Amino acid sequence: MELRPLGNTGLNLSCVGFGASPLGNVFGDVPEEVAIASVRLAFQSGINFFDTSPYYGGTVSEKVLGKALKALGAPRNEYIVSTKCGRYKEGFDFSAERVTRSIEESLQRLQLDYVDILQCHDIEFGSLDQIVNETIPALQKLKEAGKTRFIGITGLPLSIFTYVLDRVPPGSVDVILSYCHYCINDSTLEDLIPYLKSKGVGIINASPLSMGLLTESGPPQWHPASPELKSACQAAAACCKKKGKNISKLAMQYSLLNKDITTVLVGIKSVEQVEQNVAAATELAISGIDQEALSEVETILNHVKNQTWPSGIQKN
Ligand code: NAD
Repeated sequence: MELRPLGNTGLNLSCVGFGASPLGNVFGDVPEEVAIASVRLAFQSGINFFDTSPYYGGTVSEKVLGKALKALGAPRNEYIVSTKCGRYKEGFDFSAERVTRSIEESLQRLQLDYVDILQCHDIEFGSLDQIVNETIPALQKLKEAGKTRFIGITGLPLSIFTYVLDRVPPGSVDVILSYCHYCINDSTLEDLIPYLKSKGVGIINASPLSMGLLTESGPPQWHPASPELKSACQAAAACCKKKGKNISKLAMQYSLLNKDITTVLVGIKSVEQVEQNVAAATELAISGIDQEALSEVETILNHVKNQTWPSGIQKN
């Protein structure tokens, strides 16, 4: 599995990352033994990056991931763990007091002494000025205390990243996690890449399958896309299937092609999905992407290209 550098952190992440939100049962039930086997196979296949949050499944994802990582019995420096703070089942709280308590709770659930990356989770739901003036400084203290090695911010609207990065001291935010903005149906993250590179900020591209839109089985009930976007993606999936091709493989490969993106963070809930997503990366390296299938899918999605959905409480 190809490793790629993450901004100025010195970390090298596998180009496919293991998104552990499904381990919190948010995409259907995942038995614990399946979660543990999936993490094990991922690690054995060269995936070294695992992302979770206290929010996923109301702490379930962190607990299950912690158990699965422990079961690996691998040296701690061989895997990279990211968790988040500020978003919980009960709601949002980006105060210094809450995020400081949050990391202690996360470390306990993950059975770790430190995480590699601690990210403010979905900051568009809080005050961005609080993130700049209170949350990031609090995380800086946690970094100094050795609770996390690096600091990140996550969310859907791309404008949140420039708002925060333009206002914090250089080097105080190491990483951004963007989701659903570098997939076949929405590639708007691309425009932000030169800016992020100029700041030395690492780029995690999450949800390459658009949270299930780009799968044969379709998205979960709670998916916020418009009916128009959902049906266009289903038409694209059906077209691929008819030709013996798989939309999810194509979608993974589309995101992996951009080497400025450090890792393509895909939600995984089974051993089969580990195999499929690892195979997508391996086959891409050997044979390249199926241009014909990609063009067909892009044509089907053309009328909904870059369509997104609202997220958060404030406009910037
Ligand atoms: P995704 O686009 O990765 O899609 C996940 C869905 O696709 C799940 O149902 C999964 O079971 C399924 N899937 C995975 N591989 C497949 C394959 N090969 N074939 C068919 N189906 C497959 O969306 P996601 O899980 O929301 O995002 C990935 C990860 O990124 C999350 O688990 C989380 O760690 C992170 N994330 C973070 C934020 C944030 O911080 N705000 C937001 C979104 C995602």
